[in-house]
Amino acid sequence: MESINSGNCWDRKNELLSREEIEGMQAHKLSSLIERCSESRYYKEMFKRKGITPDRIKTTKDIKRIDFIDKSILREETSWRFLAVKGEHVVRMHSSSGTTGQATVVFHTKGDIEEWAELIARCMYMVGVRRQDVFQNMMGYGLFTGGLGFHYGAERLGCMVIPSGAGNSKRQISLMREFGTTTIHIIPSYALRLQSVFEELNIDPEKDLKLTTAFIGAEPHSERLREKLENALGVDAYNSYGLSEMCGPGVAFECRGKAGMHLWEDKYIMEIIDPKTLEPMPDGEEGELVLTSLNREAMPLIRYRTHDLTRIVKGDCVCGRKHRRIERIKGRTDDMFIIKGVNIFPMQVERVLLKTVGVGSNYQIILHRKGSADNMKVKVEVSDEMWRGDLEDLKRLKIRLESEMRDEILVKPELELVEPGLIDTGEGKAKRVIDERDGAILE
Ligand code: AMP
Ligand code: ZN
Repeated sequence: MESINSGNCWDRKNELLSREEIEGMQAHKLSSLIERCSESRYYKEMFKRKGITPDRIKTTKDIKRIDFIDKSILREETSWRFLAVKGEHVVRMHSSSGTTGQATVVFHTKGDIEEWAELIARCMYMVGVRRQDVFQNMMGYGLFTGGLGFHYGAERLGCMVIPSGAGNSKRQISLMREFGTTTIHIIPSYALRLQSVFEELNIDPEKDLKLTTAFIGAEPHSERLREKLENALGVDAYNSYGLSEMCGPGVAFECRGKAGMHLWEDKYIMEIIDPKTLEPMPDGEEGELVLTSLNREAMPLIRYRTHDLTRIVKGDCVCGRKHRRIERIKGRTDDMFIIKGVNIFPMQVERVLLKTVGVGSNYQIILHRKGSADNMKVKVEVSDEMWRGDLEDLKRLKIRLESEMRDEILVKPELELVEPGLIDTGEGKAKRVIDERDGAILE
């Protein structure tokens, strides 16, 4: 394993901080964080209620006096109430993948975008990407942070960026061949699809392409899947974790040790809590990751519950960095699921169904795996009247629901209309989602 001294640091000063320096830096940044947060309506009210002032939050232990927040609070309160700068300082917004309409958006200042680009450059450089590399960014561009986040980071590093976006496998492959792509950023489920297109076109990536490195993230995947992709594409694949509320990708990233992702503690404070009791978990035990963004300007968030399950990897990393590592994400503590890299909440499906005439009282979402792709099927009971009526009306209803769901959740589900009373959602709380995949983790 290459040691830290081999020059794989983009931001040597911050990457090589000792534990004492990291903890000192976090504590030092707290009062300015509280000051910045106080500019937002949400925190201003909360701090007043709880008697919190910058001089009373001196150590990372003190932030425990501040309440947790999560996506549902952002949604209820709206992101505007978390905006901590004047609107004129906001230069961009993003939103969580899959959320549309009253989405939880995240605002960025110029400084936020700068810091984010620096972080991505740090992550890419850490695993050996250099300015001579050709980087093909096969992530969705737009509101989703995966596209533009990596794009700016790779440009900052000096790579030639091919902003190919998601999908269109044949075109992706011809770009790779023509421009000698060395590095890709790709959703694991899509990488599996790409692998089958390689086979279909009779391309041997090791011989016909120049790929060396892949960044895979945005959805849970297993170690086995990483190895499969590495063999199939002839690359070293690195796990990349992030969430739009903290900036997007770049929050935690694997080094060449591939034994957990370094969570950049000069930018974020992490806690691992028991999702039920909300108490801290002992070091090394699995729990929910909670993050505080130390430097963000437009929308700093304190104690944000990610609802992602992970644990801290014990011991020192072979690379020498002291930023603690988290294990690959195991799953979620809420009902969100991820299909083709898109976050989906059952409520979004329900919203479409509830507003549509002819839909009955029950529905169920079934997640299953077809070959290497995750699929989502929605079984919907129709109303008595619809069931007894014209077949053409049923067909029209199906097409309409499919298209409206696609608009709402950005993924086209398979839809099955069934007769009233056919869906058994179990006793008590309706079981809305049946996950028939082998765990929600791509294998
Ligand atoms: P978004 O806000 O749209 O960027 O989605 C963030 C969510 O995607 C996270 O909270 C995780 O649930 C999931 N996610 C992102 N990166 C990874 C990863 N490397 N492994 C597993 N899940 C991930
Ligand atoms: Zn490391």
